[in-house]
Order: sequence, then structure tokens, then C-alpha cells
Amino acid sequence: MSEPLLAVRDLHAWYGEGHALHGVNLDVLRGETVTLLGRNGVGKTTTLRAIVGLVRERSGSVVFNGSDLIGLPLHRVARQGIGYVPEERGIFATLTVDENLILPPVVAKGGMSVDEIFDLFPNLKERRNSPGTRLSGGEQQMLAIARILRTGVQMLLLDEPTEGLAPVIVQRIGELLATLKKRGMTILLVEQNFRFAARIADRFYLMEHGKVLEGFPVAELAAHTEKLHEVLGV
Ligand code: ATP
Repeated sequence: MSEPLLAVRDLHAWYGEGHALHGVNLDVLRGETVTLLGRNGVGKTTTLRAIVGLVRERSGSVVFNGSDLIGLPLHRVARQGIGYVPEERGIFATLTVDENLILPPVVAKGGMSVDEIFDLFPNLKERRNSPGTRLSGGEQQMLAIARILRTGVQMLLLDEPTEGLAPVIVQRIGELLATLKKRGMTILLVEQNFRFAARIADRFYLMEHGKVLEGFPVAELAAHTEKLHEVLGV
């Protein structure tokens, strides 16, 4: 078995006195798409934020591409080739699509040019002069992903990329993630839309109470339906 690109071991995280992660263990292999499932508040977002260091009060280890990210300052994490797209998307609302795409620094080789981005996201090209505030939710999500792709990351962490989007746009996001996967991108995502997650993921981790309860491949999804129904209510 190949070395995981991302290996998280015994990851704990705190918000002040609040102990949010209680020893998360997970692996993501190079080129895999892995989905974190779990009810609201179990720590899915915190897991992504603690991996990249946006939650600073942590312990455990987060080894990405052979380096432990735990000791690194935030600005050095992106340079390792891992990028986080938050649920709130984090684009510059007053800047145009073009400006949003020009700003991110290319931190690793493989960063896509603006032309490559527009080939991948033709709808963003049509909207290139529109400010972020004028974009639809789906366009904002695509721009948020596109900005990270400009930097040259090998791995994307996506927090609920389909939240609040119409079914046709959800499908577009699914196609986009499938294209990125074909190009070798490694993806860890949090997703409440179970049907969407089932279409794109190779593996799943089910979280409860700040921990990973279990992991299973997509082929075992049917065998886990009852458990998921019980834990997630899906
Ligand atoms: P959701 O889908 O609702 O975001 P989640 O599984 O992603 O749920 P987290 O957002 O990671 O869960 O939250 C885990 C725990 O940490 C919850 O108990 C939450 O209340 C707490 N928490 C999250 N963010 C903060 C914060 N900024 N300050 C204090 N506590 C927080």
C-alpha cells in the first residue's frame, strides 16, 4: 500500500476550554477523494481547520507529504501544497473574478494559469469582470476552488462545497471534482449531501463526538446504510 499523502494521528483541538477534537485518526492516499460524514457539531469543520492550522490549539500529528504541519506557521502550510476552501468560501467580494484569480500567490509548481482556470470553469470566464458580490452561490464556490488551484496545491480540503446550491449546480461541482480527481488531485471534503458524496468519494469516515468512529470504502456503502441512517438520519 502506498504512503498516505495526509496522515492525521491522535489530533486533538480546543476552542479555549472547549475540547472539540478528541483524537482524530485518518489517512488520505494520493489521488483519493475522501468524505467526512457526521452530524452537525461532531467536529468535521474543526478537523479541516486543525489540519491546516486555522485552529491553533491542537496536539497530535498531521503529516502531509512527509512533513508534520503541526509546528508550522500558517503561511508555511500552503507552501506544503495543501489548500482549504472554507464553507463561507472566502473570496474577495468587492473584487472581480479576474482580480480574485490574479491575487493568490503561486506557492508550488503546478499552479494553474488564469487561462487554464477559465478552461476548467468556462462560466467564470463569462463572469470575469463581475465583482464577487454579483456571483451566484455556485459561481462563488467555483471561484473559491479556482483561487486555491492557482496556488499549485496537490490536495484540497473542501468544507460543504454544495451547501445551499441548486441541484444542477451541485452536479456541476461534482463534475468539476471528478475532473480534478482525473488530473491527480487529492481531496478531503466535508459533505452533508450524502447522495453527492456517494457519487464522488472513494472512501468515507464517519465522525462522532470529535472522533472518527470508522472508515469504509464506497464499495461497502450499502452495508453501512443502516448505521448511517442511525447516526446521520439519512
Ligand atoms: P457543522 O456541520 O455544524 O459545522 P461540524 O461537524 O463541522 O458541524 P464543528 O463546526 O467542527 O462541527 O464543531 C465542533 C464543536 O466545536 C462544536 O461543539 C462547536 O460548537 C464547537 N465550535 C466550533 N467552532 C467554534 C468556535 N469558533 N468557538 C468555539 N467553539 C466552536
